[in-house]
Amino acid sequence: MAIERTLSIIKPDAVAKNVIGQIESRFENAGLKIAEMQLKQLSKEEAEGFYAEHKERPFFADLVSFMISGPVVVQVLEGENAILANRDLMGATNPKEAAAGTIRADFAESIDANAVHGSDSAASAAREIAYFFGK
Ligand code: GDP
Ligand code: MG
Repeated sequence: MAIERTLSIIKPDAVAKNVIGQIESRFENAGLKIAEMQLKQLSKEEAEGFYAEHKERPFFADLVSFMISGPVVVQVLEGENAILANRDLMGATNPKEAAAGTIRADFAESIDANAVHGSDSAASAAREIAYFFGK
């Protein structure tokens, strides 16, 4: 089992719903540690750079404006297989398709306002952690 780090964001919809603690409990109960954590308002430029891989997608402008609509929690989760473990806890991108008991099934409203972000690979995790926290 490899100890990994992954970048997690609690998105503006979940912060506005006052469920930061409930979401963090899911990570803690699964054995993931919060290694870095910051509550912050993203700038448009920060959100665009973070989601640069989606720049050509039709939903990009909506995604960026959603991500800057209020504060987010940007954090690093650490633990065994943290990247996949976090993705499993999050559930599918579209909360309507997310498995019961996942964060998105329980806290998300729609595919745009879907409560959490999680790195999808080791390469993404390295880039995304460096993007917000440096080395
Ligand atoms: P994730 O890794 O599960 O977050 O999903 P993606 O990396 O594919 O997409 C990034 C984010 O863009 C998602 O979390 C959604 O908030 C948003 N998104 C993805 N697909 C769609 C879509 O078809 N329509 C809209 N409006 N937003 C989308
Ligand atoms: Mg993604």
